[in-house]
Amino acid sequence: MRGVYDKVVELASRRGFFWPSAKEIYADSPAGFYVYGPLGVRMKEKLISLWRREIVLKEGVNEIETPNILPIKVFEASGHLEHFFDKLIECKRCYSKFRVDKLIEEALGIEENIEGLPDTELLRLVLDNGLRCPNCGSSEWGELRNFNLMFTMAVGAEAEKPNAALRPETTQGSVIEFRKTFMVARGKLPFALGQVGRVFRNEISPRRALIRMREFQQLEVQIFFDPEDPDDVYGEKVKPYLDYRLRFLRREDRESGNISEMTAGEALSSGYTVNSLITYWLVIYQKFFNEVLGFPLERLRYRELIEGEKAHYSLVHWDLEVYTEDLGWVELVNNAYRTDYDLSGHMRVSGVDLRITSPEGDRRFLPHMYEPSIGVDRVIFHEIMLAYREDGDRVWLQLPRNLAPIEVGVFPLLKRDDLPKRAREIYLDLVEEGILAFYDDSGTIGRRYRRMDEVGTPLCVTVDYQTLEDDTVTLRDRDTMRQVRVGREELTDKIKKFLNSDINLEDL
Ligand SMILES: [Zn+2]
Repeated sequence: MRGVYDKVVELASRRGFFWPSAKEIYADSPAGFYVYGPLGVRMKEKLISLWRREIVLKEGVNEIETPNILPIKVFEASGHLEHFFDKLIECKRCYSKFRVDKLIEEALGIEENIEGLPDTELLRLVLDNGLRCPNCGSSEWGELRNFNLMFTMAVGAEAEKPNAALRPETTQGSVIEFRKTFMVARGKLPFALGQVGRVFRNEISPRRALIRMREFQQLEVQIFFDPEDPDDVYGEKVKPYLDYRLRFLRREDRESGNISEMTAGEALSSGYTVNSLITYWLVIYQKFFNEVLGFPLERLRYRELIEGEKAHYSLVHWDLEVYTEDLGWVELVNNAYRTDYDLSGHMRVSGVDLRITSPEGDRRFLPHMYEPSIGVDRVIFHEIMLAYREDGDRVWLQLPRNLAPIEVGVFPLLKRDDLPKRAREIYLDLVEEGILAFYDDSGTIGRRYRRMDEVGTPLCVTVDYQTLEDDTVTLRDRDTMRQVRVGREELTDKIKKFLNSDINLEDL
């Protein structure tokens, strides 16, 4: 039997969530680029708007939008020119190139990330285990090389060599605009910037659909704060959550894989989560993924990164990961305490003083920064994987109602008499009310239900002969397949209530 992963990739392409870019007509196009189809676009939009509601609006984040292309100096300052590379190994026979850590992990079935090991150790693992080239089977390998993951380019007619790059993270756009935005917003620390944006990484071996791509989307927040007073504001904000249980895979539990549950209060008072600001944001993101995006708690954990795995800018770092049977643990959110690494780099390279003055006027300092960064595409992919259900030949996506790309299917029972006309009227009413409805009158009613189930549509409205008599319709629940009869006048309200809650259809 095929795994859920393969079924989701097939369904996503066939029904229009996502598929590989350009491959339909240019088969040899590079991998790692994806098209979002009509349903995928909607799902992504919904995810972004939930993030805007829960994070940007509720947490007072100043959202900005900065260009995809930035001067190369920015990445000199940020350390990406020097540090942002993967280690590559080349087959001596067929010249295929591989990311060495992934080659080893896959060949030896290692679940842990070994990216951080020294070059000599990585090379030893390849040679001692007699690893063969996945392409040609040879076991003759060249030396390890560093491969920078940035796409660089020459901007302008005068440029003779690369003077700019596609950003590999949205962070730098925010950091270099921190000073300006802080002034425009008449800011006070702690001060949060946020950004929705595309980023670009020249991955050596993109794979696993939306998991490792060369162009993808991030939802990032950067919270700038006074390093001498990290409890300012957040000391109070974290208080209501001190009993909330955070789930960690601590560095000392790597071997066993045991997850430690700690209350936010314990995590904070033991010093594990450093300060109240970081503790608060760890709580907010775990709650957002669990309570708003519907990921079960037992499938979530914060994995503490160790030296060698952490990014070059990061002092402490946890990946919020999700578990699926097919893919194991996969990172969804990068949570990094970047200190003043970025601002001081830009201050050094630009020569501009980026420090700010304390409210008392007695200190000039660079704020520290903490950053949770969501990989949007991975979240979408996991939402669909975790929603996938099948029973005999019935397949349905049990998507969270707030993420469903189509909210209500509207059908006339038959394409006869006044049924289609009445169904179209209802469809248009629902659309007017801001509901993402979909009208369908082709094929049997059973098939139409199946088509809606397969893309995760939570509700279907059917107009039948009784509708013509008493102005009621049936409402059908995707998950239970139960139906209730509802009057036209209360239809919109009930649908909205259903979509915005976990209430059962019968309890409406
Ligand atoms: Zn080879």
